[in-house]
Amino acid sequence: MLRTSKCFAGVLIWLFGAAIVHPAGSTPGEEPMIDIQQTVERLKAHLEALTLRIGERSVRFPANIQKTAEYIQSFYQENAVAVHYEPFSYQDLTVANVVAELSSGLKPSKHFLLGAHYDSVAGTVGADDNASAIAVQLETARHLKALMSREEIGLAVKFVSFALEEPPVYGTPFMGSRVYARKARQAQERLDGMICLEMVGYTCSDPGCQRYPFPLMFLGYPKAGNFIGLVGNLGSRALARSLFKTFRQNRQLPVVKLTVPFNGRLVPAVRLSDHASFWDQGFQAVMITDSAFYRNPHYHLPSDTMSKLDYRFMAELVESLLIFFRSEGR
Ligand SMILES: [Zn+2]
Repeated sequence: MLRTSKCFAGVLIWLFGAAIVHPAGSTPGEEPMIDIQQTVERLKAHLEALTLRIGERSVRFPANIQKTAEYIQSFYQENAVAVHYEPFSYQDLTVANVVAELSSGLKPSKHFLLGAHYDSVAGTVGADDNASAIAVQLETARHLKALMSREEIGLAVKFVSFALEEPPVYGTPFMGSRVYARKARQAQERLDGMICLEMVGYTCSDPGCQRYPFPLMFLGYPKAGNFIGLVGNLGSRALARSLFKTFRQNRQLPVVKLTVPFNGRLVPAVRLSDHASFWDQGFQAVMITDSAFYRNPHYHLPSDTMSKLDYRFMAELVESLLIFFRSEGR
């Protein structure tokens, strides 16, 4: 019996890698680059706009999808960041991926894409899924622009807000991320890494609140739901490694890394967002997530509202992303 379970554990670890966890540290780290409290207030303001002023952003309410694209576009215009729409059609709907770009220096050494979908599933205002990610995307852009004005950061970063990720479009060629990734491949766009923000606002601490897809529950992953997860495929190990290494410098945000073989096809749950569209086109891509329905009981429900989110957790993610971009750009 023992020998068999050892082999089984061995195979699992070979396939998925033992839990690589970096808990929050007790020793005080460096001063954060951003004003955390101010960022918390700004993140809340984005959630109010997206989930209260606009509301459900599903294909049932095309006008709300359009209002959201306009909200994202006007944010970039107000912050003097170049932005444009990339429209595409789905049935009789015309929607758009919203593409903003920051670049410092003439010849950026690396090109990254920070992506997040802005639609919600029918029946919910989608605070965690996925307004939390749009809010973190916008505030990361704001702070990266400020950082690029202070320091030489040799990067080009695209911020792409994808239309249509949720059902009934999920898994069809009309997902905004599939439309973008296909176009990028055809145009041979230079892309060193795609970072996908998918549900990044929910934490929990009750015993048993954090669950995992089989077989990860056997691999020593954390019981508490206070970490941010990094999920990459074998082809994206370099990107996942540098994200993990830099995120660990932020001792206020525990981080967990998972690498999956076969583009995640053995554990379909890890493919459930926009990063998979880039995996399938051969780009390096890593999903950043609070682990979605493995932690958040409000997933795809009317109860997924802004009062359920942890804004300090989201602000610390902005800080960690900035540490990553600064490190990659030096
Ligand atoms: Zn989502």
